[in-house]
Amino acid sequence: MLENRCDVHTHTLYSRHAYSTVRENVLAARDAGLELLGVTDHFSDMLFPGTDLGHADLRDYQHFINMGVLPRVWEGVRLLHGMEADIRTLEGGLFGQEIEVDADITGRPARRPSTLYARATPNCDYVIASVHYKNFADGASLERTTQMYLGALAQPKVLVLGHTGRAGVPFDVREVVGEAARLGKLIEINEHSLEAARRDGRTWSSCRAIAETCAELGCQVVVNTDAHVCAAVGRTPCALALLEEIGFPQELVATRSAEAFLAAMAGAGLDVPEL
Ligand SMILES: [Zn+2]
Ligand SMILES: [Zn+2]
Repeated sequence: MLENRCDVHTHTLYSRHAYSTVRENVLAARDAGLELLGVTDHFSDMLFPGTDLGHADLRDYQHFINMGVLPRVWEGVRLLHGMEADIRTLEGGLFGQEIEVDADITGRPARRPSTLYARATPNCDYVIASVHYKNFADGASLERTTQMYLGALAQPKVLVLGHTGRAGVPFDVREVVGEAARLGKLIEINEHSLEAARRDGRTWSSCRAIAETCAELGCQVVVNTDAHVCAAVGRTPCALALLEEIGFPQELVATRSAEAFLAAMAGAGLDVPEL
């Protein structure tokens, strides 16, 4: 049996279509025997319909700015601060990178204008980059969609490419996985994608092909729930079944222990918080 003791992709009430608090997720993580939990709410205009993609009110994104108040160890579970940012351009640009903010969280004018991404990420330990709205990639060549993921991987805070097997944007798996391996970054095997997929379904086989390429090229994966309710935290039977089906090596599962995940963060060039 493969070991998996971290869940580094989970959502809270902040994401609006998720239903639990950070504490409820922490307690669920503790009960599931996890060593480490990552809080990674959506950083996306899906949260605030009508978002002006040129300008934002920082007050809508305070969640990311104040994450320092969360205990680093809570109920015995180590806690990381993250976000799941939407990939929004074929260059791998992320939500918020082209959105200007000119006021602080009190609504007072900021000393100098900045981007929403630059203001929201300093308190994030890592970013998961995922495609949710894929219309910008409609009709794009495989070369360009591959470049999209390569561009996202090149961003300093991006540690994980989220649910690439179900995002609906085809890409050159060998090239992206090879680059992730070279950078020490991580490819996600996402339980939420697989539990809905039938074992013979398209999502299952595309996730399986991605996992096989990770094993072949020595790229580490993270096995995450993408939980939108605390009851799902720490439960990854489908993702582990998929990995076991292909004899995936335990040592490439970065979520096998807290130590392994923190070492992977360092290996990818990210700052590792004191936990
Ligand atoms: Zn979601
Ligand atoms: Zn998610």
